[in-house]
Amino acid sequence: MKTALTIAGSDSSGGAGIQADLKTFSALGVYGMSVLTAVTAQNTQEVSDVEELSPKIIAGQIDAIFQDIDVDSIKIGMLSNEQAIRVIAERLNVYRPYPVVLDPVMVSKSGYDLLRPAAKNALLTELLPMATLITPNLKETEALLGYPVTTLREMEEAAKALVHLGPRAALVKGGHLEGEAVDVLFDGTDLHHFSGERVQTKNTHGTGCTLSSAIAAFMAKGRPLAEAVTEAKCYIQRAIAEGLSIGHGHGPTHHFH
Ligand code: PLP
Repeated sequence: MKTALTIAGSDSSGGAGIQADLKTFSALGVYGMSVLTAVTAQNTQEVSDVEELSPKIIAGQIDAIFQDIDVDSIKIGMLSNEQAIRVIAERLNVYRPYPVVLDPVMVSKSGYDLLRPAAKNALLTELLPMATLITPNLKETEALLGYPVTTLREMEEAAKALVHLGPRAALVKGGHLEGEAVDVLFDGTDLHHFSGERVQTKNTHGTGCTLSSAIAAFMAKGRPLAEAVTEAKCYIQRAIAEGLSIGHGHGPTHHFH
């Protein structure tokens, strides 16, 4: 069986973070493992608290896995602070895993900083260059590049500009643009467009986490990048369409077996 590792934060409500990643891996038939960077106290309405784990236990989790188990794919999500970014980059430089799908998570839908603003530079310099693919939404794209991105044409230029920062490929997610939801992938050579029908629902908690872990799962199974993105988009579209009305805020996406 193929294996996938998520390095991310815990969401106590089970809709995003590590929990979404492991459910996605499981639903897509890969064996999931996790390295926790932070624990969030969270429900469908808000993130009420975060406790960050020490660099020592983050490194310890990574070492424990890589010294024993073959890792076919990695997804990186919530990183929280600069020390976590530095220790993850340092350990991954030792083990050199491939592929690495990096979701540059910054702010939750409810407005909580899942990455301290001061840690953005470390993300840019330490981890972006190690990524096979980064999967920012429009807000994250703007934060990484430092300028607004509001049209499809600008998304295409942004995907190319992001690849100049170091990752091999960039998927700019246009879910927050008006109209049809189009994502733009620049794979270092070509631009690809992925359009999906917009699903009207408030149950979208954890969609970013689920998409990036689905891409990592399909790549663990050997799919080439653009094909993995196409299949992951299909998966997330269905997971959103069948999202669950759990709680009083944004319910979670649904995972299938
Ligand atoms: N909580 C954790 C631990 C996450 O990793 C993420 C996203 O990556 C979120 C919350 C944000 O989820 P959403 O913006 O879908 O509410």
